[in-house]
Amino acid sequence: MNPRDRLTLVITAFNEQDALPLLHPRLCAQLDALADIDGRILYVDDGSSDASWAVMQQLAAGDPRVAALRLSRNFGKEAALTAGLDFIEDGAAIMLDADGQDPPELLPQFVALWRQGYDDVYGMRMERDGDGWLKRATASVFYRVIGRLSKTPIPADAGDFRLLSPRALAALGQLRERHRFMKGLFGWIGHRRVALPYRRERRVAGRSKFGFWKLWNFALEGITSFSTAPLRAATYLGLFTAAGAFAFGAWVVCKAAFYGDRVAGWPTMMAAILFLGGVQLIALGLIGEYLGRLYMEAKQRPLYLVDTWLPANVAVSAPS
Ligand code: UDP
Ligand code: MG
Repeated sequence: MNPRDRLTLVITAFNEQDALPLLHPRLCAQLDALADIDGRILYVDDGSSDASWAVMQQLAAGDPRVAALRLSRNFGKEAALTAGLDFIEDGAAIMLDADGQDPPELLPQFVALWRQGYDDVYGMRMERDGDGWLKRATASVFYRVIGRLSKTPIPADAGDFRLLSPRALAALGQLRERHRFMKGLFGWIGHRRVALPYRRERRVAGRSKFGFWKLWNFALEGITSFSTAPLRAATYLGLFTAAGAFAFGAWVVCKAAFYGDRVAGWPTMMAAILFLGGVQLIALGLIGEYLGRLYMEAKQRPLYLVDTWLPANVAVSAPS
């Protein structure tokens, strides 16, 4: 590995005007300390409605290493990350949250592991100071479920705080699916991966953009993007219910043949109809989920649209 390798820090932000000015000096301090690295910073404004973009422009004007990208509207974190990574021309990338929950002070450790030859160094949240018990509990259930269902390895408690080597970046660039579950895509690539345990800190400013409903949809996205197990489960559910219904039907016919039919059994009939109807609706809904995704994919829309691109104007990157 040659000296002065390029490394770009990608920070996606959605309404983070208060957090960005606090994060920036910490990033710079880390880059300055990494003497053998040509460090860059790329801020991605995911359609913020506050002053985030103005802050980014200011930061870019004040530091030749800083580039800023503004999307045409809020596309969501996964698309914003994709946009940021697409705009990196060469070198490795590290993704961080704008809110300071992913401590930049870990950068030297990420770089050290990269230098050892790892392509995907992912931060693993050992403790999550900033997250409430409900978020931690649901996250743990989610990782367990998706770990079981998906054939792609998705390490538990790995966030988007990670370093990708140039070849991992190139590989990721080839995955253009619309429904992006980044944690799964990282896992799909393969190559050499290693975990870097860290403490997830509290937000430095502002509020979380991921409420319960958004996280629930995120979980559905992850499961349906990386597994067809729910479809199979629906098939089995159908098979078992059909078998049960058949046995029950046979029993009803026999009973009527031997003992006659005295027109009772309205409750059983209602129960059976409602149950079967419910099962069918569930299975239909599941098929609809996948069909909907197929539909979105078929439209072949771009993953994001760019409003403004402010490249870093470094002319000083030549090694001394
Ligand atoms: N984010 C984004 N687009 C969105 C929502 C969030 O770029 O639509 C960014 C946000 O600014 C932050 C990171 O994604 O830098 C993580 O978001 P947040 O801190 O709200 O999530 P949490 O840490 O609470 O899970
Ligand atoms: Mg956060």
